[in-house]
Amino acid sequence: MKRIISIALSAMIALTLLVLPASAAGYKAGEYEASAQGMMGPVKVKVSFTEDAIAAVEAVEQQETEAIASPAIEGIPRQIVAGQTLAVDAVSGATVTSTAILTAVEDCVLQAGGAPEALKLAAGPAQVEKKQENMTTDVLVVGGGIAGLSAAMSAADAGAKVLLIDKMPALGGTTAISGGFLIAVDSETLKDSGKDDSLERMLNWWDYVMNYNEEGESLYPDRERLIDVLKDTGKTVDYLAANGVVFSGAFEFGDYVCAATEGRGSALVQFMEKSCTDKGVTIVKNCKANALVQKDGQVVGVTAETEEAVITIEAKAVVLATGGLSQNADMMAEYAPGLTYAVSQAAVSNTGDGIRMALEAGAELYPESWGALNGTAIAAAYAAQIGEDAKKLVPDAYLSVNAQGNRYAREKGEFRAALAHDMLKDNQPPYFMILDASDAALQTTLEAGLALGETFKGTTVEELAQAIGAKPEDLAATVKQYNAYAAIGKDEAFGKEAEALIALAAEGPYYAVKLYPTLFGSASGVVTDLQGRVLKADGGVIPGLYAAGEMSNRPFYRKNYVLAASLGLYATMGLRAGAAAAEMLK
Ligand SMILES: Cc1cc2nc3c(=O)[nH]c(=O)nc-3n(C[C@H](O)[C@H](O)[C@H](O)COP(=O)(O)OP(=O)(O)OC[C@H]3O[C@@H](n4cnc5c(N)ncnc54)[C@H](O)[C@@H]3O)c2cc1C
Repeated sequence: MKRIISIALSAMIALTLLVLPASAAGYKAGEYEASAQGMMGPVKVKVSFTEDAIAAVEAVEQQETEAIASPAIEGIPRQIVAGQTLAVDAVSGATVTSTAILTAVEDCVLQAGGAPEALKLAAGPAQVEKKQENMTTDVLVVGGGIAGLSAAMSAADAGAKVLLIDKMPALGGTTAISGGFLIAVDSETLKDSGKDDSLERMLNWWDYVMNYNEEGESLYPDRERLIDVLKDTGKTVDYLAANGVVFSGAFEFGDYVCAATEGRGSALVQFMEKSCTDKGVTIVKNCKANALVQKDGQVVGVTAETEEAVITIEAKAVVLATGGLSQNADMMAEYAPGLTYAVSQAAVSNTGDGIRMALEAGAELYPESWGALNGTAIAAAYAAQIGEDAKKLVPDAYLSVNAQGNRYAREKGEFRAALAHDMLKDNQPPYFMILDASDAALQTTLEAGLALGETFKGTTVEELAQAIGAKPEDLAATVKQYNAYAAIGKDEAFGKEAEALIALAAEGPYYAVKLYPTLFGSASGVVTDLQGRVLKADGGVIPGLYAAGEMSNRPFYRKNYVLAASLGLYATMGLRAGAAAAEMLK
């Protein structure tokens, strides 16, 4: 998605005390352009120089994913100009984009006759003290993904004065990068699709996925809650359709029905943002909530900050909708240590802020945090490097092995996340797909991963085993057995379909490609009741505090996750939380 950001020097001078390193002076004034490889393609920057300063940096062309890259696209140029420095830290979660911008600006500095090495040593801007501000509202919604936007809409419908803040420059979080498919049980909107959108059908599929490869008792899903929320998802879709969200029709992932948003997740956010604005909701972006403010146990607001100000926001009720914690490595290690080698595809903003704030205010955390396992993937940096070829590197037709060189599952799973679940159960990472060199075009792609440490090569299977740290005889035995199954067209170990059983060539070279389980987000959060009221360990309510979305989603899933099973549930809980918060004011 294209975004043009221009940061003017004059504006920055007002905010910061500029430090102009002498070695950086003496540019050839003018505008220069350069490109460097980002995550989704080249990132082109334009840099304007006066004779003694970098006056402006502009990302003029790029195709990066907005919800992931926008903090880098906006923040890195701003920091370069403000500090007259290239000693700028990459934005966590958007390091490839950050590095692309810095590399391209460095090129421009050279073109302008400057000294990039000196700029890499230059100190950043001196910090200026932030001003203090106060704001007041009835209902404060923290976070502008589907849960927060829904809460803001219903609270505004109920007549409350609503303020929604989001820490990012654009609303949307993971919702904006999602497919925009909402589970919809018994909706009017999809009535004419002719598809069976009954609760019973949905629950049958839910049970099938939840129980895949899981034995024993589990706290989850909390069936009563699941059914209570699922049965309202159709009404939620109808409400959204009546409030400006355009759905293009019914879509079946497994054996259930979703409403497909026209324009996917990014359009969903735009439709809902417009609806909020139309309803009179005040939206403040780049505003991060840091802590809840409590008075006699009641939540009465938050402390927040923007780039210029520390703000105390007084509110009669606060709805936390800051998404999950899957992009916070420390929180994942603490709460879901079984997922340390899984890769989150959620928005970088999902750092568990709201969960932390609620816990600090006395909320109870659902036990056994986990993740929304959605499938498997090669490393994002490798995928970015090989472009379209990444689509060929899916496990279905290849042999997949664990760190010991042993096969651990049927590679072509019964549903998308099945193999990821098998990996976590096996728990002997890293995992690899094993390929031969019979596809010459693909071989170039495989070679490209060697330098990144994402692919490995051996002229024989035994040599490949050594490259991945497995015992040569173990991998050789695995390959021999797999080839034998392929020869008879029957996988006697895991039941993979005959057409997907393709023997490895008798001659090398052979390659191993690292494969990771992936997450759509976390399955965790703070305990709420069915209206989204946040509860303490003793079951009592924390007055004035509500939560929805990935902030409070653990009860819906077991260790498996139903694909596209979030947005419909979280919008429903968001609508309930917003309405309940507004109701509390009466
Ligand atoms: C690639 C992908 C595709 C997906 N597709 C689907 C799909 O089609 N259907 C489906 O049902 N699910 C899908 N999912 C899952 C789903 O998108 C998410 O679970 C859901 O969007 C989470 O919504 P949320 O409102 O809880 O959080 P988010 O949408 O992440 O919103 C949280 C917001 O809070 C803000 N925030 C965080 N901390 C603060 C703070 N301290 N102060 C202020 N603001 C803050 C963030 O900036 C963000 O805007 C997908 C996930 C991924 C990764």
